[in-house]
Amino acid sequence: MSKYIVKCLQCGDIHDPYSMSCKNNDESLLRTEYSAKQLMISDMPGIWRFYDWLPVNGIIEEGSGKTATYRSKAFAAELGLDDLWISFNGYWPEKGADLMTCTFKDLESFPTVQRLKELEETRVLVVASAGNTARAFANACSITGQPLLLVVPKTSLHRLWTIQDDSSSICLVAVEGDYFDAIALAGKIAARDGFVNEGGAKNVARRDGMGTVMLDAVLTSGKLFDHYFQAVGSGTGGISAWEASMRLVDDGRFGSKVPRLHLGQSLPCAPLYSLWNDVDKVSASCPEGMYDDVLFNRKPPYGLTGGVKDALDATNGTMYAVINEEASSAQSLFEKTEGIDINPAAAVAVASLIQAVEAGNVKPGDSIVLNITGGGQKRLMQDYQTKQLIPSLEVSADDPKAEELIVEKAAEVFGMNI
Ligand SMILES: *Cc1c(COP(=O)(O)O)cnc(C)c1O
Repeated sequence: MSKYIVKCLQCGDIHDPYSMSCKNNDESLLRTEYSAKQLMISDMPGIWRFYDWLPVNGIIEEGSGKTATYRSKAFAAELGLDDLWISFNGYWPEKGADLMTCTFKDLESFPTVQRLKELEETRVLVVASAGNTARAFANACSITGQPLLLVVPKTSLHRLWTIQDDSSSICLVAVEGDYFDAIALAGKIAARDGFVNEGGAKNVARRDGMGTVMLDAVLTSGKLFDHYFQAVGSGTGGISAWEASMRLVDDGRFGSKVPRLHLGQSLPCAPLYSLWNDVDKVSASCPEGMYDDVLFNRKPPYGLTGGVKDALDATNGTMYAVINEEASSAQSLFEKTEGIDINPAAAVAVASLIQAVEAGNVKPGDSIVLNITGGGQKRLMQDYQTKQLIPSLEVSADDPKAEELIVEKAAEVFGMNI
């Protein structure tokens, strides 16, 4: 029997395990089904301890870390909560957190890049990102040598740091323009011969990788939680948390109810909040004005089968919208009480939890897991020398030759014939 299969949620057809979408329709996610119904923790390093429930056949030995889950005391007391758990994704060696690019995007990049290794993929992986995803893929691809073309807005370049010495498998292109210009260019390039797309929410390796946050939380606490809190842009982490909790219900050892999803967004750019509540909380100048622009996504996977709407419906979930002042004071309170720096995006989840307590959506005795999606970057800078990735090329999104220029540069960097 094979370790896992990949199935369309709408038509039920079994697909090639590496497929990103159903042959019959494009309005449904594919999902993995694992032959192991009970999760046995492996003794492999980092994320690979959840090997049974990752869609991989083999591991990247070096460099992958994992979530660290612990029960909060000081911050929980501030909020009057008795059973609050923190799933910390980032660098915090004192707690055992060792995601070296300091966000949970590391949990997506390692399984994704491992699968490219299995496929003996020689094409160039294309990733467009406002920062955290790009940094995570740069890290994993530096380790395996997978050729990677990163297309990022010039204004996000400061997020492109690395702790790796050798970044020769990466071609970084800075786009004068916004995140959508970068995505549009990357999309066109990924469709060309010699390039391959990472797949986003449709990639089961990304979702099951992110789902390990829930696995870590539930295995550490010993039970399925009443509530799960996360800051979302695309909402993929929310979908992943729901999928992982369904597997944990089927496992049989942790309870029979999936946690309620509480997903937070940053105003004035909250498209998922708007879709869910049927309001318009997306300003025309987005992502301007957000507490953290990594949380903006113009086309989140909301309505498709198995997407964010289904995840919220199935878990009796709810959405929050947070203004910058709330995020900022939530960040200070968390950092002061828990003693670690957190990523601004994660502060949006903290603020959502505070709103939920005030609104009575959670009760003092409820069991809660708060996903801190990124943190410990300041902590990491104390221990490691980081360096900035240098763009191989800068292009303007308005340049009609932008796509050609990027492809030519990638061909030069990777010695391709185009
Ligand atoms: C990407 C990201 C998020 C949002 O993740 P989703 O894909 O929307 O689930 C939240 N926090 C941080 C730090 C991120 O990098």
